[in-house]
Amino acid sequence: MRNKYLFSLLLMCSICFKMQAQQEGYCSDNPNRDWWNVVHYDLKLNLPADTNYISGTVTIRAKAMKQSNGMLQIDLQDPLSIQSIAINGTAHKDYIKTGKSYQITLSDSFAPGDTLSILVNYSGSPQIAKKAPWDGGLIRTTDQGHKPWIAVACQGDGASIWFPCKDFPGDEPELGVDMHYTTDKDLSALGNGRLISKTMVQPGMQEWHWRVSNPINLYDITFYIGDYIHWKDTLKGLEGSLDIDYFVLNGNEAKARKQFSVVKPMLHAFEHWMGPYPFYKDGYKLIEAPYLGMEHQSAVAYGNQYKMGYLGKDRSKTGVGLLFDFIIVHESGHEWYGNNISANDVAYSWIHEGFTTYTETILTEALFGRKKAFEYQRGCWALIKNDRPMEGKPGLCDGGSGDHYVKGSAMIHMIRMMMRDENKFQALLRQMNLSFRHQTVSGKEMETFIEQETKMDLRHFFEQYLRQTSVPELQIEKNKTGFSYQWRNCIDGFDMPVLVYINRKPQWINPSTTVQVYKQNKIKSIGVSPDFYITKDIR
Ligand SMILES: [Zn+2]
Repeated sequence: MRNKYLFSLLLMCSICFKMQAQQEGYCSDNPNRDWWNVVHYDLKLNLPADTNYISGTVTIRAKAMKQSNGMLQIDLQDPLSIQSIAINGTAHKDYIKTGKSYQITLSDSFAPGDTLSILVNYSGSPQIAKKAPWDGGLIRTTDQGHKPWIAVACQGDGASIWFPCKDFPGDEPELGVDMHYTTDKDLSALGNGRLISKTMVQPGMQEWHWRVSNPINLYDITFYIGDYIHWKDTLKGLEGSLDIDYFVLNGNEAKARKQFSVVKPMLHAFEHWMGPYPFYKDGYKLIEAPYLGMEHQSAVAYGNQYKMGYLGKDRSKTGVGLLFDFIIVHESGHEWYGNNISANDVAYSWIHEGFTTYTETILTEALFGRKKAFEYQRGCWALIKNDRPMEGKPGLCDGGSGDHYVKGSAMIHMIRMMMRDENKFQALLRQMNLSFRHQTVSGKEMETFIEQETKMDLRHFFEQYLRQTSVPELQIEKNKTGFSYQWRNCIDGFDMPVLVYINRKPQWINPSTTVQVYKQNKIKSIGVSPDFYITKDIR
């Protein structure tokens, strides 16, 4: 059970490596889609509760960034299929299916700045997820009252498993998404962002129109259909009044109100450390889901069964992990890392998962104090596998090791330690969320930003922790006049400063991969701060 649990944990909200290898169209750009940039999606979908069959249209508004090459790629995965395509009102019948994509021959050419309106008519029965959210697809189940409960999760497989799109993480729609979901009138059809309207469209069927006004990761676009009840709240936050909406299954309100009481203190803590909630215009929503959880932007999926920790388990094995509901905290933390700042390639999943895993430490610190927070942080390090580097290879559909969760978080913790200034660490997180607000970034851009803000040379540090699997060893050898010290089991030039305790007094030293000498008489004890993910050899 333990291994199964760890396996699940490491894959959560991440991208399964094996699945990625098959996703040639998802992770890299190509000439049929790099000349145009998506501005907005409009989804009009029929999602009846009694069938897996969906149908509808998607309108993609886009802008040519350079001269078109005569072709345009739209991604849509089997068994869904396209019935028709029109571009700026002109039907385009000349298209072929290649793998997970359609290649359309254009009847016109487009120059930089030209706008496109691509209307795609499609239908079919999307794949059913075997183990959501780790593999993608529809989730169809029933609630305790035997009412239909339907949702979708697609981080691993891409949004093109359920609607036609440009399924590329480097291109988010700047002006957001409009979602028109039509389903049975006695059920709710929830989406991201704000509810614009509810309209009866045919006997027994109602259309729910939702709107996201901000850029959004495509895998974040989602729906939840079920017998939901709803209540509202507001947070007096850094940018004014933030609307909070909760949706849970009918019958779960009492326990949900209790479990969700952490949301407001959590959002205050996150705003304190990382700056304003990034999507005031779209609001914050927490929605009960028929799977464990997902960071769906402004519609966070909750499926932790109203338990503390991770389905009632403590990831850190310190006891601290049971003080909060892991899914509420982790998936909401993604609003800053993953949704506000998005990686432009899955290789840099450490930006999403490393920082978000660190938000668990931030929340713990705000509610239970620094000591418990650091205990939790260090306790989780036992989950690190060092099986592969946590940064993947860009352009190759490689998300790197699942270590991008906990080892990513450990890396951020060490940056905090090295900064030796809590206010500056807070300023770093805040400035990062401001500078990269609503943007996609590469790993290199993030590394450079951190180096500039901290004024630290972290080249060897990042190389070691992001792109190697060895764990640096601090070797200390006492002698009559003090001790010698150096880094072993690491890349050449690794030079992370580290906090030690000499006769219990704190002292920073700057080891390198060559031996250095520290001179002091009468050394009775040498200890090393536990807040560095390293091994120690003290003789
Ligand atoms: Zn995550």
